[in-house]
Amino acid sequence: MIMYDYTMKQKKVDMLSRSELIRMAADDIKLCNLCSARLDAACPVPGKGNCEARVVILGRNPGAQENKLIEPFVGPAGKKLDEFLNIIELSRQDVYITNLVKCYTKNNREPQYDEIKTCRFLLDLEISIIRPSLIIGLGEEACDSMVYCSSSSSRQKFFIVENKDIEIEYLFTPTRHPSAALRNGRFNNEFLDDARWIKSFLNEANNNIPHHDLLTNILT
Ligand code: SF4
Repeated sequence: MIMYDYTMKQKKVDMLSRSELIRMAADDIKLCNLCSARLDAACPVPGKGNCEARVVILGRNPGAQENKLIEPFVGPAGKKLDEFLNIIELSRQDVYITNLVKCYTKNNREPQYDEIKTCRFLLDLEISIIRPSLIIGLGEEACDSMVYCSSSSSRQKFFIVENKDIEIEYLFTPTRHPSAALRNGRFNNEFLDDARWIKSFLNEANNNIPHHDLLTNILT
């Protein structure tokens, strides 16, 4: 694995283009074998999307289809995610889509605490390159790991996250995982309601609201 500086500062981002950095990061992620989750996976799955994105979509870990195609959210959950993005009026080309844990786990078992902890530096690497203004967390594990909250009880809230390790501040908002939305009608309604809420919040970003600058960044 290439051991370049994972706590990359803006100066280094300026020296190499974001697209070069994200490509290097994807190459590194694919070579990773630092934890037990790798035993079940064909290959770790790096994030994909716009390296200049203001919005990052964060899931838990790849499913069987994603493991096969080495791409995030390409199965049925990916189609549901497209519906969510459509409501926010963003396409996959506008956002960066990634996972908390980069490896598929057999039978979609929940990643263990030490796997989530070990893999976190790879997510931080992606975030340090993309420098998003908003991260939308899908499902309990992604939300719990990022802001110690539940995606069910903390819906329709923005959290201000200061990630001191990579010196980046961003907004975080939790919602249901698209797989849960596919399984359960109530979760589906909540998932799509959350998309409408995010859209209306972004539409009001020019009003006098806290962290106006971060939200404005999402829109520009
Ligand atoms: S889950 Fe993350 S840390 Fe573990 S092997 Fe896969 S990429 Fe590496």
